[in-house]
Amino acid sequence: MSNIPSEPEFEQAYKELAATLENSTLFEKIPEYRKALQVVSIPERVIQFRVVWENDKGEVEVNRGYRVQFNSALGPYKGGLRFHPSVNLSILKFLGFEQIFKNALTGLNMGGGKGGSDFDPKGKSDSEIRRFCVAFMTELCKHIGADTDVPAGDIGVTGREIGFLLGQYKKIRNLWEGVLTGKGTTWGGSLIRPEATGYGLVYYVNHMIQHASNGQESFAGKRVAISGSGNVAQYAALKAIELGATVVSLSDSKGALVVDGEGSFTPEEIALIAKIKVDRQQISSIASSAPFAGKFKYIPGARPWVHVGQVDVALPSATQNEVSGEEAQALIDAGAKFIAEGSNMGCTQAAIDVFEAHRQANPGAAAIWYAPGKAANAGGVAVSGLEMAQNSARLTWTSEEVDNKLKTIMQSIFQDGLKTALEFATPQEGVLPSLVAGSNIAGFTKVAAAMKDHGDWW
Ligand code: NAP
Repeated sequence: MSNIPSEPEFEQAYKELAATLENSTLFEKIPEYRKALQVVSIPERVIQFRVVWENDKGEVEVNRGYRVQFNSALGPYKGGLRFHPSVNLSILKFLGFEQIFKNALTGLNMGGGKGGSDFDPKGKSDSEIRRFCVAFMTELCKHIGADTDVPAGDIGVTGREIGFLLGQYKKIRNLWEGVLTGKGTTWGGSLIRPEATGYGLVYYVNHMIQHASNGQESFAGKRVAISGSGNVAQYAALKAIELGATVVSLSDSKGALVVDGEGSFTPEEIALIAKIKVDRQQISSIASSAPFAGKFKYIPGARPWVHVGQVDVALPSATQNEVSGEEAQALIDAGAKFIAEGSNMGCTQAAIDVFEAHRQANPGAAAIWYAPGKAANAGGVAVSGLEMAQNSARLTWTSEEVDNKLKTIMQSIFQDGLKTALEFATPQEGVLPSLVAGSNIAGFTKVAAAMKDHGDWW
């Protein structure tokens, strides 16, 4: 029995990666990589700290702050900060672990890390959020830097919080440097960074659709179910609509908003939802008023998957473990052919098992094809990497330049996963390759090889 406290989310992420490596020919071909897996699974460093701040009533509040500096083989630690009451070390270790291999897949020089706090931004005033960010950065600034560790946003951390955090970093360190990404575009941020994860997700899935249909199909005409209504969900929905798809659902932590019958969310409706999310409100507050009343049904406490009717594409984009095994089966029964995670570890292991079994049992386009977040949602960190490059060079690329680079990176992540799956997890004749196996192996081997060069294992 282990003397380490149970870390369910981290153990789930570790087992998912380890199982795909075990079930491939990787360890047969390169047995010493088992040792690399053992070494890479322990963070290089975990920083935990106290965050004391003052609420609007002048009272003392205290939260837990964390930064998991998981792996620096490929570059400075890189990964978001999450502010949410559910945050604990297990969740941040799972996110940091996934981040290592995701960042490797982008082909950019970034290590993996993650951090955050159990602070809940909901119901807080802007002043309270600013005071919390100042207190959080007062400690975090001792451990990060443009060449050491470059955090970004995640759940609960938007451009507003990044601004407060950067402001405090500058005050204490007397240093302007690209220590955070997701900055405002007038003070060092990259164009397309807010859009990057959602857009990248759609670019990636477009490659899946084109590959599975031998170039005959694209997003045009597809019915797409999306969960969440934050940064990733909003921009995934907007790009899918731009490419001619019908978006039939969005959701938040309190319920799902689903198109009743035919029709799609419009960009104007998504803009209204984006607006209330800036004010930290719930979809329920607007679901029964124009333009939503009549066109949509609002299902309190629900995720969208079993309520969306026939769909072609599902994009979980809210949080971890938001698709269960039963919901996975319901999506297959509803005709879904492509499922790709905008969220990190959006699918439970039971859901992945359902999708992968269906892929293996059904040749070609008859199967559902699953893409893990490590690959499909890497667009955000990829553009964060491009933001770091622009900051270092003290220049700004146009939206078109960044978007084109994002498209190239998403294509290469897709091709890398495909090629690696064919090499190490060769599918039966006519069966689509496993993108989860291919992406895991491709990310892992890049990191393991660099670690060996550095003498981290031998
Ligand atoms: P966000 O803007 O804060 O939005 C999160 C969305 O998920 C909101 O709709 C939120 O609902 C919902 N949500 C949060 N916790 C939930 C829970 N426990 N149950 C149900 N719904 C929940 O965050 P985001 O940046 O879009 O991130 C969404 C996911 O994508 C996360 O898994 C994140 O790690 C991943 N991701 C993000 C990026 C990025 O660039 N932002 C990059 C890669 C991966 P409420 O509004 O009710 O809270």
